Amino acid sequence: MFCLLKHEGRLKKIPVSSGLVVAIFGYADRPVAVAQSTMSVDQNSVTPFDDAHARVRALDPFCKQIVGTGLRRSATFAGLVDDLEHHNVIVYLSLDQSLPVRAALTFLVNTGQTTYVHVHIGPRLSLEQATAAMAHELRHALEIAGASPPVTNQHELQDLYRSIGFGVGAGEFESLAARTTEHQVRQELSISRRGE
Ligand SMILES: [Zn+2]
Repeated sequence: MFCLLKHEGRLKKIPVSSGLVVAIFGYADRPVAVAQSTMSVDQNSVTPFDDAHARVRALDPFCKQIVGTGLRRSATFAGLVDDLEHHNVIVYLSLDQSLPVRAALTFLVNTGQTTYVHVHIGPRLSLEQATAAMAHELRHALEIAGASPPVTNQHELQDLYRSIGFGVGAGEFESLAARTTEHQVRQELSISRRGE
């Protein structure tokens, strides 16, 4: 597995161990069932974030804070999360202290019903920088989730980005939509800050 979408200057592939994928799927099946049963049993026992956004799953407090910030202060970010909720996709979000770039998205697998992707956020970002970078990656998640035919492997992922994006290196791609999204969110966060 390789990260195909990374950001900050030159994009690079980095290896992702199969252990990561296994770990992710060990985590994957449980929250779905928990979220569904919790919603029907006791609405008061979960936060609105956990309740309403089952497909976008922050795995650590910083990513949870990013999502909360984005939902509260950026209509574009909130729209992305809402759109993802209407696709058969699970998006894991985690802080990666060893990530050499700002953010990255890893395609994990398509099970035939659901696409799994993992957004990694690098260290040393302010909350606003991380929120804008997250929005960029969520746009990629939406691009992958909405692909027709569905993306089922790395080759098809590259084919998708040859179609909707552009190459920025060997096997490395970008999309204008993701860059535009990040710019919009950065602007909305700036406006929101001035209004507080
Ligand atoms: Zn990108």
